[in-house]
Amino acid sequence: MSDSNDNYVLEISGVNKTFGGLKALSGINLKVREGSTHAIIGPNGAGKSTLLNTCIAKLVPDSGSIIFAGRDLTDGMTPHGINQLGVSRVFQTPEIFPELSLLHNVMIPAFAKRDGFFKFNLFEWLRDEKQLEGEAMHYLDNLGLSGSAEVHAGSLSRGDKRRLELAMCLIQHPKLLLLDEPTAGMSRHDTNRTIDLLKEIKEGGMTKIIIEHDMHVVFSLADRISVLAQGAIIAEDEPEAIKGHPRVREAYLGSAEI
Ligand code: ADP
Ligand code: MG
Repeated sequence: MSDSNDNYVLEISGVNKTFGGLKALSGINLKVREGSTHAIIGPNGAGKSTLLNTCIAKLVPDSGSIIFAGRDLTDGMTPHGINQLGVSRVFQTPEIFPELSLLHNVMIPAFAKRDGFFKFNLFEWLRDEKQLEGEAMHYLDNLGLSGSAEVHAGSLSRGDKRRLELAMCLIQHPKLLLLDEPTAGMSRHDTNRTIDLLKEIKEGGMTKIIIEHDMHVVFSLADRISVLAQGAIIAEDEPEAIKGHPRVREAYLGSAEI
């Protein structure tokens, strides 16, 4: 089936990355359609996190380009600069402010995105605080965290920190959201709640790339799936086609039912 929307938000071309002698990424080409949810699956060590890290300048690829909003993200951009362009990420290790309440954790990135930390304006802060507080509570509520809004973030479980980090991303209204195993460590109930929220923001038109081991999550959300094995994309297709793909079953899924 050809897709009528051929606007690509992100275009990864010929990306290579080696660590010492290990080729973690080999000639990766990937295009992500605007408003879609693109899943990347593959076994541990396939290079999935490395690929997302090159998209936010946490790692610089040896060669290749990653074009977003007309800019090459690999060409000297900083992680902060990429965030300002509209890219947010939830990564495997949540990055939160442990000493602050959940509510403040969610409110801070909205200010940082808008002004940058160095252009902080107290009057704007006071005017906007109530509105932002309401929005922050909305995301906390949807993720089942509003009951802990005043609790220090450092005291949360790993799964709860994940959901908090997701709320911190969503309040920035990113154009592109990168999710590295967002439901890892979550109960089934919390996973389903996270799926529902990600579906809701999909309706809002946000583009997402999601790395995920939980096939229930992948098949609930993905419009398209790329399969990564040993640093190379071995298949890319719509979810139904991926389910039946012989190389995918062999390389990644084994005999597992999906
Ligand atoms: P995945 O996320 O698919 O599990 P990763 O991208 O984390 O895989 O890792 C791909 C390969 O690159 C693995 O063999 C891993 O050990 C290696 N690797 C990842 N990051 C580094 C690093 N900073 N230094 C050295 N090797 C790394
Ligand atoms: Mg990983």
